Amino acid sequence: MRIERIEVFVTELPVRLQRTFSSGSYDTGPREQLLGKPVLVKIHAEGVIGVAQIRPISPGHFVADTVHSVVGAIVDIYGPLLIGRRLADFEANNALLSSRLAGNPAARAVLDIALHDALGKALGVPVHDLLGGRSNATIPLEWSVSLYDDVGRMIADARRAIDEFGIRVLCLKAAGAKGWREDVRNFEAVRREVGPDVMIGVDPNTGWTVSETILALEAMRDFDVGYCEQPIERRNLRGMAEIRAQARGVPMMADESLFTIEDAAALVRAGAVDAFCIKLYKVGGLSAARKILAIADASDVGINCGGLAVASQLEAAASAHFCAAVPAGRTFGAAEFVFGVGAMGADPLVAEGGLSIENGAVAVPTAPGLGVVLNEDALQRMTLSHATIG
Ligand SMILES: [Mg+2]
Repeated sequence: MRIERIEVFVTELPVRLQRTFSSGSYDTGPREQLLGKPVLVKIHAEGVIGVAQIRPISPGHFVADTVHSVVGAIVDIYGPLLIGRRLADFEANNALLSSRLAGNPAARAVLDIALHDALGKALGVPVHDLLGGRSNATIPLEWSVSLYDDVGRMIADARRAIDEFGIRVLCLKAAGAKGWREDVRNFEAVRREVGPDVMIGVDPNTGWTVSETILALEAMRDFDVGYCEQPIERRNLRGMAEIRAQARGVPMMADESLFTIEDAAALVRAGAVDAFCIKLYKVGGLSAARKILAIADASDVGINCGGLAVASQLEAAASAHFCAAVPAGRTFGAAEFVFGVGAMGADPLVAEGGLSIENGAVAVPTAPGLGVVLNEDALQRMTLSHATIG
């Protein structure tokens, strides 16, 4: 089946999300502003339509893509290259796109996911069947607790995740302006509130030094740190390995250090990680995520699925299908896309097949493609910009 036409939409969000972490912030922006809003693509191929949505996460984030860079990359470069190509030629298509414009993982991700959705629909199988099949039928979710000056707000956020949604894995943002000792106090306060049965990780988003991390983990020893995510600068793999050697068993997770397949291999070679944090918009989609999974398999490294999927069932569903295909023993922690499946309210773009949270987890869709059916009326109503290629 050949790719005939690609449509690119920027869509409005039903709510605004603003959050803070040590190295930046998320902001989906005011109504009608393009910056901060998600990009939705439709790929038309001989009777099937593949759909995907990704919210480019910058400005203010370590992943550099913005809505304008993603739309520009697809409309001007990637889209025209894909017209007339075979839908199923993921490797050849990806090589072609890389040869013309490197990087741009969010633009690559939304195209790659839409191609998987289209192929799944053409074959009548869910996307996870294209990724190795279903190892996990339900995906437990993690709740990422934003940094606040007032620890009471962090505690309230954690309580809401547990009481309202049944979440059992929390990720506490750290490296606030008051220094690592305050992060330790925040961690202790949340641990005392939620008790021993909830996994709590800590994510300083590169805001600590090697020595601060070693001191902080030592100071948090009695409070059961579930994992330590990207404490230091992304290129300091030796530092990560040093921390890991002194962490007394606290697993180390790489997020900012991991964009590419080559990054994954380098992290393993450095002995720097116990788990990879895979965000589809960061690594370039499902094709690249699968290759990173293979490196994890070969290296006994766990797989954690990040990415907030702000009010986007489509973005969450793509992540859910990838998680479904990760071998059960390889999964680490829980998946982060809770904001895409109801925690920020309903996603108006979905007509049917939306995921919903039950006991802190979601069931993986089994309908063809991503399994999420677009509400075309809502899409028309919420479109802020639209372009067609081909
Ligand atoms: Mg992180």
